[in-house]
Amino acid sequence: MIYGNFIAGEWQLPGASGTFPVHNPATGAVVAEVASATADDVRRAIDGAEAVQPAWAAMPAIERSAIIRRAAAIMVDRIDELASLLVQEQGKPLAQAKGEIMYGVGFLDWFAEEGRRAYGMTIPASVSEKRIIIAKQPIGITVAITPWNFPSVQLLRKLGAALGAGCSMIAKPAELTPLSALEIGRAFEEAGLPKGVLSVVCAPEPYEFTDVIMADPRVRAISFTGSTEVGKILMRASADTMKKVSLELGGQAPTIVFEDADLDAVVVETMASKFRNMGQTCVSVNRIYVHASIADELGARLQAAMSALTVGDGLHELTTVGPLVEPAAIEKVERHVADAISKGAKVLVGGSRSSGLGTDQFFEPTLLIDVDETMQVMQEETFGPVAPLSVFTDEDDVVARANATPFGLSAYIFTRDLNRAIRVSEALEFGTVGINDSTFSAVQAPFGGYKESGLGREGGNMGLEEFMETKFISIGHIR
Ligand code: ADP
Repeated sequence: MIYGNFIAGEWQLPGASGTFPVHNPATGAVVAEVASATADDVRRAIDGAEAVQPAWAAMPAIERSAIIRRAAAIMVDRIDELASLLVQEQGKPLAQAKGEIMYGVGFLDWFAEEGRRAYGMTIPASVSEKRIIIAKQPIGITVAITPWNFPSVQLLRKLGAALGAGCSMIAKPAELTPLSALEIGRAFEEAGLPKGVLSVVCAPEPYEFTDVIMADPRVRAISFTGSTEVGKILMRASADTMKKVSLELGGQAPTIVFEDADLDAVVVETMASKFRNMGQTCVSVNRIYVHASIADELGARLQAAMSALTVGDGLHELTTVGPLVEPAAIEKVERHVADAISKGAKVLVGGSRSSGLGTDQFFEPTLLIDVDETMQVMQEETFGPVAPLSVFTDEDDVVARANATPFGLSAYIFTRDLNRAIRVSEALEFGTVGINDSTFSAVQAPFGGYKESGLGREGGNMGLEEFMETKFISIGHIR
């Protein structure tokens, strides 16, 4: 199977720069070849967006909404095919792939409607002959750069907001997982999206794309999800043409389990957060702080739950933990585990790669105890199926430990004490805090990070704002 790029409403077949392969991380097989876009292709995507942008912005929001909803319905109709493709390019279990796509479709539905509520304001002026009107307007041509961990929803969350706001969007999916994004392009094409409003541009390296995009003053906003390192590069590069940037970057999520926690809930929520997508999510529980009085019990319960997981190809019905996305990902997990063991951590379950499966990119669900902050697992995102457990005794101390990171995306606390829940959730320096809840994803809520975890918010009503300008219209001489 060969995919072209979707540029200004046309499928652009491979040109001089050929194609690049997309591999199935579970089997190593080539799933498809994808055309490598050139700098000219990127320019044509911008030209196409420029040509259609005024008409798209001027289209009544209810008509834009109908097109977005049509694309959402097409994706729902094709859910089995799309989910299977997502598993093959990315690795997650099939049920999770379906869940991801439906979550993404939820963003399309949400923003199709939110675009109809891009409210402005009128404000009383200080003199009687004036009127002050505040209007929201689409920012113009936008770009989405997305990572491989959620190839569908990462794009749909940005695209829904951009289209709902009246913006065109050029999407550059991650080179490991471009296929879901191309299929999103196809769904919008079939839904009747005007040519040029969406382009999906793929390349085996991001650099040429970024150079063209960043240098072009017509591109007014960049919405990026990925590493903090690349987020900083993009933020610096956006300064020359003063593009608006929304950045959803790395996390280092702590979970704090207090002595009065409902341990059943802790296990269910922590397992879901830790092992969803094999731990390759920026909101995945990365550090578990447990009160010393319940540490052994929680360790035993997590050990039992983790032993019941099934590692394998995401297309197999029983699989709950798929392969990691690429060799570098599993090498990082191995490094973190080896580092922790060398500094005194003990392995309760797992600890190494799973053998006898299609590739060597499968890692056993792993539980580490006797962990402390000298270890990499407590300092960096492991992005894999490894749960480190560290004990605490004092509330202020554990909050300080949880906050002692440059990242601030999400944090979780478990307690039955309402005062403590409020006190600690307010003290944590994170964009999302889950109280007795580590599975908080919701289209209607703003998602984003404090500190080096990012800028701006996605989802909710704030998600639309990322793609809009605010115009102050001052009217004088009213008699
Ligand atoms: P991850 O660690 O999740 O792979 P990256 O930040 O490396 O995160 O990649 C996320 C997205 O950013 C991908 O689409 C990738 O192609 C893109 N990307 C990586 N490096 C750059 C760069 N220097 N400029 C622009 N995009 C980049």
